[in-house]
Amino acid sequence: MTAGGEERLDRFMARANAAYYAGRDPFADFATAPEISQMFGEILGAWVAVTWQGMGRPDPFLLVEAGPGRGTLMADMLRLLARVAPECHAAAAIHLVETSPRLRAVQAGALEGRAARPVVWHERIEAVPDGPMILLANEFLDALPIRQFVRSVDGWDERFVQGMGFVTRPAADLPAGGPFDRPVPPGEVLEVCADALAVARAIAARLRRAPGVALFVDYGYDGALWGDTLQALREREPAWPLADPGQADLTAHVDFAAFAAAARTAGADVHGSVTQGALLAGLGLFARAEQLARGRPPAEAHAIRDAAQRLAAPDRMGRLFKALAVASPGLPSPPGFAAAPASGDIP
Ligand code: SAH
Repeated sequence: MTAGGEERLDRFMARANAAYYAGRDPFADFATAPEISQMFGEILGAWVAVTWQGMGRPDPFLLVEAGPGRGTLMADMLRLLARVAPECHAAAAIHLVETSPRLRAVQAGALEGRAARPVVWHERIEAVPDGPMILLANEFLDALPIRQFVRSVDGWDERFVQGMGFVTRPAADLPAGGPFDRPVPPGEVLEVCADALAVARAIAARLRRAPGVALFVDYGYDGALWGDTLQALREREPAWPLADPGQADLTAHVDFAAFAAAARTAGADVHGSVTQGALLAGLGLFARAEQLARGRPPAEAHAIRDAAQRLAAPDRMGRLFKALAVASPGLPSPPGFAAAPASGDIP
């Protein structure tokens, strides 16, 4: 913080979220796709098995998750892999990227007895050892800190946090890779997540050295768009993002176009984005729901079908959430991305 008590928005957000994920049970405040239904992890587990085939079945390979939360997605994927793709399961060395010591302990519990080899944790994606890799990240990028720039008549201002409000100052620097060429009208906000762009570059660099695919699923927009998307959730209710740092989950929508451009510029292939609905439906979500619902009492069968709708229907999570795959140059299109149309400019 500066002497005047001003703090750049990304520094405020990093500090608030570190306290939030270290201290609270985030999942009391929001429900993520893996927490909604085991089907999410099962479908993505099948995605991992097919992607691994497409990479030439490397043994061993790194199965990495960034921001694993409660460990539910990885646990569901490993259960599926053990059953339907035992060779892939046996070859997978699990690496988790997680900063919160509390969540690391929760993840260790969730994965107890599920992995073929000891699970390894890292602070940062850059610390994951080299080698063939499949990486997944669900609702990871949205938690990374953003800066907000406001278009002025002749340049850019930047928003700083002061007390419970914002103050705006002429921008002293513009982060590399930020989409400052978009036609943002004066007074409107453009967000830049430098950490997400750094993740895109680091992943792309790895994927040039060794074969692999990284799948990012998150809510966000794809196209030359802008706007203020900073939001806070506290006890499942929207809250003012600048109140009580550490007590609410702060997120921003992911700028998939900027993320894709950073990965491409660093030499990786990019597939998508496609909507979460298109990805999951294309990978067999509804067939899996029917399979699980068969023979269950009506209320349970209804809950299973409703969970599938919640994940994939356009008016629920299906369209706002998108999936983007970053891949080593020349690998086949990952499953779910080959024939699907890009999600385009739907915010
Ligand atoms: N993927 C999970 C959890 C999403 S919440 C799910 O879908 O349920 C975001 C996760 O990212 C949490 O596990 C949080 O602790 C972790 N996280 C947030 N910022 C991080 C950072 N900078 N580096 C590593 N992990 C981070």
